[in-house]
Order: sequence, then structure tokens, then C-alpha cells
Amino acid sequence: MREIVLATRNAGKLAEMGEIAQEFGVRLLPLPAAVEMPEETGRTFLENARLKARAGSASTGRPVIADDSGLEVDFLSGAPGVYSARFSGEGATDERNNALLLERLGETRQRGARFRAVLVLSSPEGEWTAQDEWEGEILREARGTGGFGYDPLFYVPALGRASAELSREEKSRHSHRGKALRRLLALAAHA
Ligand code: IMP
Repeated sequence: MREIVLATRNAGKLAEMGEIAQEFGVRLLPLPAAVEMPEETGRTFLENARLKARAGSASTGRPVIADDSGLEVDFLSGAPGVYSARFSGEGATDERNNALLLERLGETRQRGARFRAVLVLSSPEGEWTAQDEWEGEILREARGTGGFGYDPLFYVPALGRASAELSREEKSRHSHRGKALRRLLALAAHA
């Protein structure tokens, strides 16, 4: 089986993306503990994903996939975007980020939003990029217990449920990250 390193410290992401990769005959490996990841200083998802994939590949000498993702809210002109994880500032947690999002939206009826994921595969042979998005609406209160981040506030009209109410398998089939990974692995299948 072909092996590719996933540049993340998030065990949940490795499990979720690892299952998808298997469908393509790829085994995703965790990033070795000794490899340091650069700070996400980019102003776009692509810049951040590239920074991480190139740094990982340079220090391991192996093909490395990195992702960067976030939530874009129409009423907030696309924020929090690349700052999704740090939306509520220093010491941000999912709970605080979600509370701030509800506060910023208030009673507005303009609640359209999307998750976006950009993935980069960097290897000694070259570089491949794929992205995808997942359209939804921001709820007025949290629903469901699955997933992470903004999942409890992200309602998916096409499925009639919040992202946090989906099984892991359902989420990986529909989500921005799952779709982007399938695209990337299809693109790079013969690389
Ligand atoms: P990163 O790609 O790990 O840097 O994630 C950026 C941030 O975007 C996360 O901390 C979450 O706040 C948010 N995010 C990205 N993907 C998802 C998702 O699938 N569900 C919920 N929140 C997400």
C-alpha cells in the first residue's frame, strides 16, 4: 500500500481521513513527533496548507498531505475563515467560538455559511492541490453531539440535520474535507 504522511496532530482527523484514503489504496501515517509544524501565518487556506505540506515533506523526505479549513459566514463577509480556530481570541475553545458566532449573528435571517477545506499533497515528485466546500446555515442554538468545532451550529439543508447530528461515515461522505481528500487522491493517483 502506498504511504502518505498526514501533517496534523489531530487524531480525529487522522482516523477520519485515514478511512477515506484506504478506499484509494493509501495508508495515511501520523506525522513523526520530532517534526515541527510551521505557524499558520498564511492569509488563505491554500497558503497555510502549502506551508504545512512543504515543511512536512522537506523534513521527512516523504509525500505529505496537509489541510487547512474553516467556516465562512455570509453575514460576516466570509469571517471567521482562516481564523476559525482562533475566532474568540487567545485561549479560544469550540464553546467560546460557537458562543461568539451566535452573538455576532444575533437575530439576522441571513444565516448562509460554508465550510471550506484546501488540501495540499507535497512530495519529492511534485505538488497537488484540491479544495471543496459544504453549504449550510448557522442555527440559532446548538444541535447534536458529534464532530467538533462549529458542527453543532452548522445545519445542512440537503440532509435536514446539523453536522453534529451526522454519523462519522455520513459526515465524511458529505463534508468539505472528505470531498477534498477524495479529489486530491484521485488527482494524485498516478503521481
Ligand atoms: P484546521 O483546519 O484544523 O486549522 O481547522 C480550522 C477550524 O475550522 C477548526 O478549529 C474548526 O473551528 C473549523 N472547522 C474546520 N472544519 C470543521 C468541521 O468539519 N466541523 C466543524 N468545524 C470545522
